[in-house]
Amino acid sequence: MSEEILINVTPQETRVAVVAGGAVQELLVERAANRGLVGNVYMGRVARVLPGMQSAFVEIGLARAAFLHVADIKGGEPGKPIERILTEGQAVLAQVVKDPIGTKGARLSTQVSIAGRLLVYLPAASPGEAPHIGISQRIEDEGGRQALRERLRELVPAGEKGGFIVRTLGESAGEDELRADLDYLRQLWSAVQERAAAATPPALLYQDLSRAQRVVRDMASADTPRGVVGSRENIQKLAAFAEAYMPKVRGRIEHYSGERPLFDLYNVETEIERALSRRVELKSGGTLVIDQTEAMTTIDVNTGGFVGSRNFDDTVFKTNLEAAQAIARQLRLRNLGGIIIVDFIDMESDEHRAAVLDELKRALARDRTRMTVSGFTALGLVEMTRKRTRESLAHVLCEPCPVCEGRGELKTARTVCYDILREILREARAFHAKEFRVLAAQPVVDLLMEEESGALAMLSDFIGKPVSAQVESSYNQEQYDIVLM
Ligand SMILES: [Zn+2]
Repeated sequence: MSEEILINVTPQETRVAVVAGGAVQELLVERAANRGLVGNVYMGRVARVLPGMQSAFVEIGLARAAFLHVADIKGGEPGKPIERILTEGQAVLAQVVKDPIGTKGARLSTQVSIAGRLLVYLPAASPGEAPHIGISQRIEDEGGRQALRERLRELVPAGEKGGFIVRTLGESAGEDELRADLDYLRQLWSAVQERAAAATPPALLYQDLSRAQRVVRDMASADTPRGVVGSRENIQKLAAFAEAYMPKVRGRIEHYSGERPLFDLYNVETEIERALSRRVELKSGGTLVIDQTEAMTTIDVNTGGFVGSRNFDDTVFKTNLEAAQAIARQLRLRNLGGIIIVDFIDMESDEHRAAVLDELKRALARDRTRMTVSGFTALGLVEMTRKRTRESLAHVLCEPCPVCEGRGELKTARTVCYDILREILREARAFHAKEFRVLAAQPVVDLLMEEESGALAMLSDFIGKPVSAQVESSYNQEQYDIVLM
């Protein structure tokens, strides 16, 4: 399936949609305010060494100190404890390998790696004589790997201490392209070192390419023939970047100058809305219900409405097959990571179960993120993991609902009503008041005045005080006040 990339840039955010087969497959939203930090290189300052955890907190100029574990300190003697490697106040050059997530600070490594288009440069890789050259696992043919290693070895200048990893794209690259990438990475690194020498920690030394630049860089792969950019200003910037670094891509970046916004034209805005919804409608009438919690994501597959008993097995099978495809797409679209539990509709037949699992695996193969999929467990669930790299789409675009505080549910008006009745009784015992007035949301007041008016009257008789109710329109359903008059 040939993919098309749509880039929508405003000063505040960059949004990238990968479209294939008429449907949005992947969405990337990068806010200027919280651009991902993975790849950034800092001159940090050790704030605290924690021998018990064999790690250190390193100040890199963010709200929360970053975390450096002894295993991520490269080039030292193996087994040497962290308290003998680092001291408080020491400057340390390190790279972010994991973005801060929730309350966890960024994770650092002193093994810097800088990704080019074809190569990844490890400036301080090998203490040995020959530079280390690694080949991407995805280049499977051993002969090809060896030849590539030789080709690259000839390009690396004498005296180079660092190592290189050839990315998948590098396999089919010509010598000039490899050389250009290699030179670019070495130049970049020497600029970082100059900055490091002059920097007072904490200081940012190198920032990875912007989302849009990276998209353009990766477009050099054959299966993304076309990238469309929404604004004139950005097409100029991106074109200049392509010109300097990957001239072949330059001609494939197009400027979209139509009247309708680019993302509307391709229905991307609608897809974003849908990707934030808990329910996903399937064509067969079934639905997926996706719940994301701190610990895991659960996906529940349901049939749509009534299913006749005659074709029951068949309908369930078809719904599960469709669900398998939809799940793969939703995981990528929403960028859901970590543990994912899928509860397909129960199937009697082993063959059907195997076919659904196959379909799921096939659909997941389009996703470049690392994943594992179990078979059906004893309880009929499919457990899978998907590598967590960036925040999920929902975490980028949403926050927990302040009304229900993220529970996803509110107390019913009747529950609130009964809470109020109990509270009035409590207050009538504790305080001396002439009269009580309830301030609550409209549905709660409606109940008190109508269906539950009998209960309110009984309470009023019991405490011997009048009780009135008044709508407070700014209150949500769970909020109320009892005013003593
Ligand atoms: Zn809510």
